[in-house]
Amino acid sequence: MDWSGIWTLAEQKEGKLHAVSFELLARGRSLADQRACELCAVVLGDKISDESLNELVLHGADRVFAVQDPALAHFLVEPYAAVLKHLVESHHPEVFIAAATTLGRTVMPYLSVKVHAGLTADCTGLEIDPETGHLWQTRPAIGGNILATIKTPSARPQMATVRPKSSRPLPRDAQRKGEIIKITPPPELLKGRMVFEAFVPDNTQTIPIEDSDIIVAGGSGMKGADNFALLERLAEALKGSVGASRPAVDRGWQPYPRQIGLSGKTVSPRLYIACGISGSIQHLAGMQTAETIVAINTDPAAQIFQVADFGIVGSLFDVLPELIEKIKASGESR
Ligand code: FAD
Repeated sequence: MDWSGIWTLAEQKEGKLHAVSFELLARGRSLADQRACELCAVVLGDKISDESLNELVLHGADRVFAVQDPALAHFLVEPYAAVLKHLVESHHPEVFIAAATTLGRTVMPYLSVKVHAGLTADCTGLEIDPETGHLWQTRPAIGGNILATIKTPSARPQMATVRPKSSRPLPRDAQRKGEIIKITPPPELLKGRMVFEAFVPDNTQTIPIEDSDIIVAGGSGMKGADNFALLERLAEALKGSVGASRPAVDRGWQPYPRQIGLSGKTVSPRLYIACGISGSIQHLAGMQTAETIVAINTDPAAQIFQVADFGIVGSLFDVLPELIEKIKASGESR
């Protein structure tokens, strides 16, 4: 059977495309150009406007498959997987990538079993052999201590999920042309055992860390849950969000949605201030693409200083109150 083309799975919420859809297209475009083949974005949902669908073309897709139905408005794994299986078996893409979001991490393993293909989760790098079409899927392994490169030579499509924020979208090209194919899914594919009840947002933070331009994160050096009030004050002064290392979450000082790192979220803010965080490889995996990193640590040999643009050797309990006052004063004097 002839398997060809690179597919990306676009995501939407309430008819609006998620930013990760455009990050994936940047990955997909580079693979499609290396393999000299077509790049296709697949989106499932309801009431997605033609303008939004065309944005996928303007950001790199040659073709968009838009499958729309009220039953697909909210993500439910069974109908989503059934529709994707139907598309894969009808069009035979060589590569199918999705974001390592809740949706991607749920539907792609389900789909890979249904179509008897392999899946590499949480990739940080993807390359394609232009001759054989083998996808080299790189991801941290063994607790983040090595980077493993994996290929699936015998099964198609080659499937992978990619960490959000691990690539930047391509610039919008208003001249790009592509084909938008609207598909009405067969009703038998839309049945499932789950019922969508409601979407309950995480209201613990004004801006979720993955969408925040400024993150102040605390680790074991914070010494206790109450001291995170300092970080809340700093985040408020900077209009940013609070993140945490895994030990700070494991000890119950912070909720899991704020965890940054290998087993938490990947973030790529403009400014990342690490307070009392040593800089383990597993933590760095989640934040080292930040534009500017500031570290506050009592230990001058802490690993975090290796990646920091600015380092302050000192106790966060001395530095933070002073920093907050300075930032507030500079805001007031402006
Ligand atoms: P520590 O390593 O204990 O560092 C605390 C730092 O605080 C020290 O550098 C110390 O000098 C400094 N300090 C102490 N007092 C002060 C003070 N008063 N002022 C300033 N600095 C002070 N970790 C994550 O963060 N995210 C993950 O997603 C993650 N996933 C993992 C997945 C796996 C499979 C494994 C094996 C581990 C994972 N870890 C993760 C854990 C990781 O290995 C480290 O244990 C963890 O990142 C260390 O957290 P920390 O820096 O807060 O604590």
